[in-house]
Amino acid sequence: MTGRPDVADRATAGFSHGYDATPAGRWAAPGRVNLIGEHTDYNDGFVLPFALPLRTVVAADPQPGERWTVRSEIADRPVDFGAADADTPGRVTGWGGYVAGVVWALREAGYAVPGARLAVASDVPLGSGLSSSAALEAAVLAALADLGGLDLPAERRPRLAQRAENGYVGAPTGIMDQSAVIRCRAGHALFLDCRDESVDHVPFDLDAVGLAILVIDSRAPHRHADGEYASRRAACERAADLLGVPALRDVPVADLDAALGRLPDDETRRRVRHVVTENQRVLDTVALLRAGRVAEIGPLLTASHASMRDDFAITVPEVDTAVEAALAAGALGARMTGGGFGGCVLALVEASAAEPVAAAVRSAYAGRGFAAPDTLTALPASGATRLP
Ligand code: ADP
Ligand code: MG
Repeated sequence: MTGRPDVADRATAGFSHGYDATPAGRWAAPGRVNLIGEHTDYNDGFVLPFALPLRTVVAADPQPGERWTVRSEIADRPVDFGAADADTPGRVTGWGGYVAGVVWALREAGYAVPGARLAVASDVPLGSGLSSSAALEAAVLAALADLGGLDLPAERRPRLAQRAENGYVGAPTGIMDQSAVIRCRAGHALFLDCRDESVDHVPFDLDAVGLAILVIDSRAPHRHADGEYASRRAACERAADLLGVPALRDVPVADLDAALGRLPDDETRRRVRHVVTENQRVLDTVALLRAGRVAEIGPLLTASHASMRDDFAITVPEVDTAVEAALAAGALGARMTGGGFGGCVLALVEASAAEPVAAAVRSAYAGRGFAAPDTLTALPASGATRLP
């Protein structure tokens, strides 16, 4: 990322070059990482993401009629579609589908979406699990809402952006990504209850206490991630049925042993144990953050990793190596973040230790013959917004 022009300037430049015009405005939405709470979302549980300082920016202006044209830095050619394409899920394929999906979701919800020309630039790496897809949806949604003067309060936006991804693109994601990139606040993590979608902004001012989060892109290929995700999800639903609860969220950690005793096999018991203890770790993390005891969340992060590795079986050698190396180099806690089988690792570090910890991870990677990992140091940033 270093050495590239500012992302907002790139969006403006992409717009000017592409359309030979000046944009009416620019809208930004960040990538996100989940601090803790993995595979809890579809179990009606808790997650705790925060927004990254890396952003996607959309420069846009209105155009007449029901016509949408969009350019992205990642593509040579623009994608152009009309109402008939937008109204048929899946019709616009590839990256343009995320934009068409937003138009579709808004129109389905009864909004009069203005025609628009858009140009996209992004510092969020694509496909690394930092939610470039939600950042794109959220920035486009914000642009169209403002250009059309749509009455669309922030709390309604995550559901619409999620519908774009689920219903139009056809990617089965929960509500976390879109909630995070739209609703996060700087210096805070977003405590999200996935059952009722209520949110609470929990102070997470790392800078004030001399800490930082090091985000490590494991560069591990996502081996069989879709099938594994589906099988974990199915196992959780089966277990909830067996236990006679609507979702595993309804098993309190105090009842865990009794619940495990009612399950038929070791694998199912491990899956349930991960979800139930992970929900509790989110609650414990929130309590510590609210009490200002930020450094003390480290062991909860590390315990979450162990649970994903040993009970939920969703880690791979690259992420385990990154976590072990970060901890050995003095990180206060470390875990894989995201659905698993690759993606990113986050480590809570003293701000001054970020570089040495990153170097230790790189060296452990080299020792194992893995592709060198990308790293970035992140402080919790703000959610989607219109740029001045
Ligand atoms: P993640 O959300 O973890 O980055 P996804 O696979 O969910 O990974 O989403 C990545 C996809 O989103 C890309 O392959 C592309 O289709 C689309 N996308 C995200 N950001 C952009 C962008 N700046 N320009 C064009 N397409 C983008
Ligand atoms: Mg995504």
